[in-house]
Amino acid sequence: MSFNSLGLSEALLKAISKKGYTTPSPIQQKAIPPVLEGRDVLASAQTGTGKTAGFTLPLLHILSENPKAKYRPIRALILTPTRELAAQVYANVREYSEFLNLRSAVIFGGVNQKPQVATIRQGVDILVATPGRLLDLQNQGLLSLKRVEIFVLDEADRMLDMGFLRDIEKVIKSMPEKRQNLMFSATFSKEIKKLAHGILNNPVHVEATPENTTVEAISQKVYRVAKGLKTNLIIKLISDDNWKQVLVFTRTKHGANKLCKKMISSGITAAAIHGNKSQGARTKALAGFKNGNVRVLVATDIAARGLDIPLLPHVVNFELPNISEDYVHRIGRTGRAGASGEALSLVSADEITYLRGIEKLVGMKLPVEIVEGFEPDPNASTEPIKPGQNRSRNPRNRNNNRNSNSNQSNRDRNNSNRRPKRNNKKKFNDRRN
Ligand code: AMP
Repeated sequence: MSFNSLGLSEALLKAISKKGYTTPSPIQQKAIPPVLEGRDVLASAQTGTGKTAGFTLPLLHILSENPKAKYRPIRALILTPTRELAAQVYANVREYSEFLNLRSAVIFGGVNQKPQVATIRQGVDILVATPGRLLDLQNQGLLSLKRVEIFVLDEADRMLDMGFLRDIEKVIKSMPEKRQNLMFSATFSKEIKKLAHGILNNPVHVEATPENTTVEAISQKVYRVAKGLKTNLIIKLISDDNWKQVLVFTRTKHGANKLCKKMISSGITAAAIHGNKSQGARTKALAGFKNGNVRVLVATDIAARGLDIPLLPHVVNFELPNISEDYVHRIGRTGRAGASGEALSLVSADEITYLRGIEKLVGMKLPVEIVEGFEPDPNASTEPIKPGQNRSRNPRNRNNNRNSNSNQSNRDRNNSNRRPKRNNKKKFNDRRN
């Protein structure tokens, strides 16, 4: 199938060809036609499937075919869970709309709101936003969603993980009831189905690949290793094989910083990306990683979510996630857009329970290797690390569950203007992401 047969305008086809895409990805083939027909769509697709173009291209087509008021009210709203994803989606919107008379803007927290407000004042057709900053500006009367015709909820599962349900509900109430809705999610829990039921009207269901099967295309390996030897093992693996671009996942922000420092002192260029890093530091780290100046990007789950780093050759789980689905998200960063990739996990005795859960989810046993000199400790306890454990050096924060952690840290990131007290930032310093 070619893009020509999808019914997209010449201006869009020109932008697609400028991007170098020749064939629509499966999610694009399935999602674009119903969106063009004006249908609500519920799509099962994770980052790497081409989902962004899957909703952006038909959205731009619809808006450009039906030009509206000269003062350009916001006609399409794309809501994303993280700043990075918002920035990436916006970059895509800009590229695909290059030959159209449409204006777009992106807003997210953690940066000065003034330039964002100035752009919106000039009139934008498409707004990409994270929930916190969107509601802030709306509450200040600086933007209106009353003319929204198309609403896109991107990475809905992560939105809920990050505690955005109430914010989403508020956003929905401020839009006209009659509108087209597109919802994208990598996983479909009961909560997601409930949310979809509340937002979508007789939706068409599309999916890129049956859930969790993409992992089969990725070469996966487990290194069993003593906990205390993990840092030296990862440095050895990176150095011996001279890996040029590695994304490494840790469970905690503190762990990410610590590992990053060790890498740097071993002569490996590295940067950490997590919720306590300023927007500037995160953008810089990502840019360095993309342009090859930084070999290793150490990230926590939520910070890495949605990062668009094409053709990533290596993903390493320095620690396994305690939520099996996160493993699938993590390794989905490799082998993107048809390229082959390798996902390695360093597993100590206390992570065996998590490993078994992951193997159950992906439906296969992962091959295990032991490197000489880095053997697992036969006496180590196999008692799993509890989700709250190791997340915080501050005893007050130790027993937070996943939702309250990510929920709060996310609010911290996206709602900087609503932060009641300055020392809140310190309080959440060592929480996950
Ligand atoms: P996404 O899943 O939207 O984050 O897209 C993942 C990557 O695939 C991005 O780098 C896109 O630029 C790229 N991409 C999207 N659609 C296509 C396509 N039809 N052909 C080749 N690459 C694509």
